[in-house]
Amino acid sequence: MQPKDSAFQPIPGMQTPRFAGMPTFMRLPHLDLESAQAAKADIGIVGVPFDGGTSNRPGPRHGPRQLRDLSTMIRTTHPRSGVNPFKLVNCADLGDAPVNPMDIMQSLDMITGFFNRMSDKGIVPLTAGGDHLISFPILRALGRDGPVGMIHFDAHTDMNDVYFGDSKYTHGTPFRRAIEQGFLDPKRTIQIGIRGVKYEVSDFDWALEQGVRIVEIDEFFERGVASVMTEAREIVGDGKTYISFDIDGIDPAFAPGTGTPEIGGFTTYQAQQMVRALEGLNLVGADLVEVSPPFDPSGGTAWVGVSIMFELLCVLATAQDARSHSQV
Ligand code: MN
Ligand code: MN
Repeated sequence: MQPKDSAFQPIPGMQTPRFAGMPTFMRLPHLDLESAQAAKADIGIVGVPFDGGTSNRPGPRHGPRQLRDLSTMIRTTHPRSGVNPFKLVNCADLGDAPVNPMDIMQSLDMITGFFNRMSDKGIVPLTAGGDHLISFPILRALGRDGPVGMIHFDAHTDMNDVYFGDSKYTHGTPFRRAIEQGFLDPKRTIQIGIRGVKYEVSDFDWALEQGVRIVEIDEFFERGVASVMTEAREIVGDGKTYISFDIDGIDPAFAPGTGTPEIGGFTTYQAQQMVRALEGLNLVGADLVEVSPPFDPSGGTAWVGVSIMFELLCVLATAQDARSHSQV
């Protein structure tokens, strides 16, 4: 690990205007995952431009490109903690995972392969989706040596079984598949922000039977951020923990550009507070999914998305930095 490596710094906004040049994530260098330089990266920010798991309104395949564009507005230093992730660890834009928009199962294998190669190099992924199905192939890579825990922000549990008869791989099913196949530990999983009209009153039964903790939005608003996040930290403990953030967890007043909006959600400030409360956990990766540019061509939703990605980057960098010191 080579902190403060000059080759891994964002292009300074005071030097080159933010609207100029090629839009990479956070204005970081774009490196090919197979390059020698990429092997020195600690955190790889990557896109997964895939929405073949979307059951109704598609569009998140266009998310990574719009998120890259809006991420050029992000500066370097966290306003509350003072963390500059680019001084703690080596960050790079490692491009997009390969996908085949004509073939879901092949895409899942291609995505898992990409994240396996990142894991082989010790690179922690921060991923921009894509629909929420992309979390399944990522968890399959990160959980290959044993199930990880997860803190999941979303309006939906994404724990359904099948769609349209027998389709098992959709953006409404990734976490059920990950639990069934042993990549996600249900007893170390908490879902926060769940709401919206259900299919059946029994929708959450399977997940609850596995030991998943579901914090529905009413409970969230009754207890507040601090209480809920204290419980979330207790549930995941000090084991490997993944963070999955569906933009539709945030109220559509702030983030309308998504396929499955549900009213009555988090404010953007509550979302920031929750991610800040992840500091100190043993984080092994994070994603921000379901930004759908066709439903918000203004880029406002993508701006919310990249702002949350910066919050995630700061807590991932702190975790990666802490691991590097404990290994010395
Ligand atoms: Mn979701
Ligand atoms: Mn959702």
